[in-house]
Order: sequence, then structure tokens, then C-alpha cells
Amino acid sequence: MTATDSAKHQKSKALKPGSRRPAKELCSECGLCDTYYIHYVKESCAFLTQHIAELEAEIHGRSRNLNNPDDWYFGVSQNMMAARKKEPIEGAQWTGIVSTIAIEMLEKGIVEGVVCVQNTKEDRFQPMPIIATNREEILAAKVNKPTLSPNLSVLEQIEKSGMKRLLVIGVGCQIQALRTVEKKLGLEKLYVLGTPCVDNVSRAGLQKFLDTTSRSPETVVSYEFMQDFKVHFKHEDGSEEKVPFFGLNTKELKDVFAPSCLSCFDYVNSLADLVVGYMGAPFGWQWIVVRNDTGQEMLDLVTDQLNTQPVMSKGNRKEAVQQSIPAYEKGVTLPMWAAKLMGVFIERIGPKGLEYARFSIDSHFTRNYLYVKRNYPEKLEAHVPEYAKRIVGQYKLPDV
Ligand code: FAD
Ligand code: SF4
Ligand code: SF4
Repeated sequence: MTATDSAKHQKSKALKPGSRRPAKELCSECGLCDTYYIHYVKESCAFLTQHIAELEAEIHGRSRNLNNPDDWYFGVSQNMMAARKKEPIEGAQWTGIVSTIAIEMLEKGIVEGVVCVQNTKEDRFQPMPIIATNREEILAAKVNKPTLSPNLSVLEQIEKSGMKRLLVIGVGCQIQALRTVEKKLGLEKLYVLGTPCVDNVSRAGLQKFLDTTSRSPETVVSYEFMQDFKVHFKHEDGSEEKVPFFGLNTKELKDVFAPSCLSCFDYVNSLADLVVGYMGAPFGWQWIVVRNDTGQEMLDLVTDQLNTQPVMSKGNRKEAVQQSIPAYEKGVTLPMWAAKLMGVFIERIGPKGLEYARFSIDSHFTRNYLYVKRNYPEKLEAHVPEYAKRIVGQYKLPDV
């Protein structure tokens, strides 16, 4: 950070909470505009400027190879694997690999702070970003807050705290903005641990989803759209509820997702050093994508605490994706018995491992492409990255 940067920061002012953001209804509330880094919003905001390829080259040393379909789907990578903790963290979203890496980095003195997101005391789903400086604070941030989360709202505190080595945990839209302002933060080293992210919602949208889908919305602690084609809800009493995707009330739920997330093409968090999700791994395992040497350094810290296996890929997603496009458009909802039957059938013969991840990426990218084409036709060309155009180009889409 230069003296001029510092002066710019002093002059710029965060927007007031609740005021309209520069990306208007497309804002994913990433938090940047809650800080004086709003000064850089035009070039940083994922919904005003899409420049993933340029940032990939800067951060990973190359951008996606457009002749390699694996790069279209999973981004720049050195290594991929399935992994799970030998001793899972109780109450983590999966086995707690993300929280474990963060704790190791802090306790080994590799970083001085970790940007992560806890929830407020009053509401387990209301995000509250913090800079954690001890194990307890990181553990209090475990589990997904399945709502738009202003993780970058703590950026001003970094400069003020004088921290020089930092880990940021976040999802794609947050990380694109972060990478764009990275050099302005005054850090010696930034580590980025990402998770994939899709279909996120505002807090009000989450309530509608829970009310429409779960038998007991008020006791849901967490949920996940799983590889067995069911939504798994975990409840307060430890019980699990499973609802087949095909039985979801698509008509009611169509407008529940945030416009940002219906326009998002960074499902796999292209700009993180290391990505930890689940969708490319067998059921019960987590999926790890190492994008560069920094990501490998982060993963090496915890490998002795993990069981690992190579990634696998089985089945063929293409027909299922093609058929799902008109079904989604018409808002088809199957009766519950048929949805369960369909779930069992697809689970037996359906795509597994990396092919399941491709299935999920294809379904979301085709839906999002149509959404942008219908609602923001003037943005379509520049906003959709080239790799996403190739993915969508494999399918026949309805004329808008
Ligand atoms: P934990 O150890 O439980 O840690 C979770 C971490 O996530 C915490 O550090 C917390 O700070 C951070 N976090 C929680 N909520 C948010 C948020 N809203 N924004 C930013 N950071 C947050 N993976 C897939 O493979 N496919 C998907 O479709 C998919 N969808 C997701 C949708 C959302 C909204 C989110 C937040 C994550 C999604 N993931 C997806 C990632 C996956 O659900 C797990 O978060 C990941 O595998 C890490 O699990 P863990 O047990 O290691 O995490
Ligand atoms: Fe600002 Fe982030 Fe919203 Fe873009 S997405 S307008 S950078 S808060
Ligand atoms: Fe951000 Fe995309 Fe996740 Fe929405 S789906 S919160 S835009 S990364």
C-alpha cells in the first residue's frame, strides 16, 4: 500500500447500512461497500466487472486452459482429492477441514488473524463477520451461514490492526473483490481459503426456503444439497430430515435465490488458493482443490489429520441436465412419492464424484445464463466468463 492509497482510504467513506449499493439489486452484500475500500468498487465488484481470467493469471500464474474441459469446470488446479478428517469437528458443516486449517495457520504463527463468519446471538443464520485471533473464535464460526454474508466488512479493521499476515475464508464473490483490492491492504502475505457456493439467499429468502421445505423450520441448525439428490436438514435434537430435490416446490422457490446468485458463474471459487467443498467427492467425503503453491502449503499443515483418496468420476450427466432445463423453466414439482422414486433411481445410476460436480455446475450455469440473458441482456457478454460460455454451449437452451 502506498501513501497515495492511504490518503484515498481516508477520503472514501463506507456506505450506510441498508443504502443502495453500486451493483443495485445484483449486490451480493460481500461487505466491500461497508468499508472505505468502496473507493475501488468499480473494478472490484463481481457484478460490475468480471475479470476472473486476468486475476487467475496474476494469482495462480495462469488462467484456465480453455482447451481443457476440466479447467472450464474446476478452474486452475495443481491437485484434487477427496478427504475427510480422521476426527471430525462436531457441528462443522462437513468434517471441519476448513476450521482445522484456519486453527493450524493461527496456532503455528503463519497468520495473525483469520477472517471468518460467526452468527449473531439472536439468530443462528444471521452472519457476523469477524477477524478471529484464537481457536475458540474460529470454532465459533464453523458451519455454513446459508445467507449472503458481508465478510469483507472487516477489511478496514485489518489496516487499523496493523496485521501483516492474514487468512481470509470466503465464497467466490467475496474473494473476487478481495483479490482486486489485495495490494491495497498493506499485507505482507494473504492466504485465501475458499468454499464453493451456489444458490445463496437473503435472510428473508432463507426463511421462505425453510418454511416451504422443512417439516420443522424453526429447529433447523444446518442443511446441504447432497450428492444423493436430497436436501439434508440437521435439526436441534440431532435428527436428520431428507427432502428429495425433485419434490422441492420449484414454483415457490424460483424467486427465493438472490439475484446475485442467479447471475453468478464462480461456483468453484476460482481465485482462492485452496478450495474445500464436497460436491466432487464420494458421499460423506470433502472435495479439495489445490490451485497453487500457497494452497498446497495450507493443505500440508493438516494432511496428518486427514484420510484421503483420489477423486473419481462415474456416469454421464448430460441427458439429466438437458432434461432439467425445461422442467425448471416450467416449475415442475413432482408429488413426493414420485420424487422419492426418482431420487432412488438417479442415485443408483446417476453421476458420481467429479461427474456429480459437473452435473451441479451445468444445471446452475444454464439456469443462470438464461436469467442474465432475460434480465440483464446488456451485461451478458462481459459478465459471463468464457469458461462458463463453453459449459452452457453444450446444451440446447430455450429461445428467451
Ligand atoms: P467448517 O469447518 O464448518 O467451516 C465453515 C466455514 O465457512 C467457516 O469458517 C465460516 O467462516 C465460513 N462460512 C460460513 N458461511 C459463510 C458464508 N455465507 N460466506 C462465507 N463464508 C462462510 N460446497 C460444494 O461442494 N457444493 C455446493 O453447492 C456448496 N454450496 C455452498 C453454499 C454456501 C452458501 C456455502 C457457505 C458453502 C457451500 N459449499 C458448497 C461449501 C460446503 O458446504 C462447506 O462449507 C465446505 O465443504 C467446508 O466444510 P467444513 O466442514 O470444512 O467447514
Ligand atoms: Fe459492493 Fe460487494 Fe455489493 Fe458489489 S457485491 S455492490 S462490491 S457490497
Ligand atoms: Fe456470492 Fe455466487 Fe455464492 Fe451468491 S452464489 S453468495 S454470488 S459466490
